[in-house]
Amino acid sequence: MFTNLRKLIPLLLIALPLAGCEQRPQRVSHSQLLMGTVVEIAVTAPPEQAEPAIDAAFSEMRRIENLMSPQLELSEVWKLSHSAGPVTVSEDTARVLSLGQQVARLSGGAFDMTLGALKRLWGVESDAPRVPSAAEIGTALRDIGPDALQLEGLIVAKRNPALQVDLGGIAKGYALDRATAVLRQAGIRHASVNAGGDLRLLGDRGDRPWRIGIQHPRRTGELLATLDLRDTAVVTSGDYERYFERDGIRYHHLFDPQTGLPARGCQSVTVVADEAMLADALATAAFVLGPERGLALLRQQQVEGILVTAGGEVLVTPGLQQRVHWP
Ligand code: ADP
Ligand code: MG
Repeated sequence: MFTNLRKLIPLLLIALPLAGCEQRPQRVSHSQLLMGTVVEIAVTAPPEQAEPAIDAAFSEMRRIENLMSPQLELSEVWKLSHSAGPVTVSEDTARVLSLGQQVARLSGGAFDMTLGALKRLWGVESDAPRVPSAAEIGTALRDIGPDALQLEGLIVAKRNPALQVDLGGIAKGYALDRATAVLRQAGIRHASVNAGGDLRLLGDRGDRPWRIGIQHPRRTGELLATLDLRDTAVVTSGDYERYFERDGIRYHHLFDPQTGLPARGCQSVTVVADEAMLADALATAAFVLGPERGLALLRQQQVEGILVTAGGEVLVTPGLQQRVHWP
């Protein structure tokens, strides 16, 4: 009898906290393939609240993909590329184009949403990427740039009817922002939405900041650094995600509109900003601009970042230095 009781007491001690746990928020996470990458949404909330919120956030991202994918026939971007006259777009697409135009101007044209023909020419996303001839590149660059698209409210006009629009450097960021907006509307306060390493954080992990790993641009599977962050977006542009090699030269998918060639100044640029759409566009722009002008752009826009130069030197903006940990 006495021994039985002694056995019972520790069992009760274990059972009590477990019973208390049932009401507590849990970490619920799901993944889907979206915008050409694996998107993971992780939410800290009771499952009955988390599950429908995650479903709604994925639907919202799918809606954005259906508007902005260049491949999906009848997406707004597809229509824009395949029509000569002006096209009326949704408020979502107009917002993305409008911020994209701002970043295009701020970066002196380094960020460019009119590089669709050039991207197709290189075949970066196809099974057969190749190095185009100088003549082909010259043709693809004809009449591109920030002034090649005119926006008036929801109406978008092209200066050159053949112009191909590509939102690959900004649309994913917007989708991350929309997903977190939907989660917040569903009453979620702690969440992370991770699209292949580009993320937007809602709140913190519950009791501490999120610890975010930044991929090393040359050592696959190793971290360059980790960052302690809350309520912010972290987006990276790197030359290691989509690339091919010919004759020992690495050709990747971030093009310098001046030359039509992959930009050569950086290995990666990570931007930390309130909005993922801005972080996405600025990371692409800073990458193309190279270390000096790229960091100047981040400073001017009052966002933080980590930039790895082509030579492997790691540069960190002052505001991030307290929050970065090196392995
Ligand atoms: P990822 O999509 O790999 O996360 P980025 O945000 O860096 O990466 O965007 C890369 C994409 O941006 C390219 O695949 C292309 O669609 C587009 N892009 C390439 N060069 C430029 C540029 N100079 N300005 C704007 N977009 C670009
Ligand atoms: Mg980008």
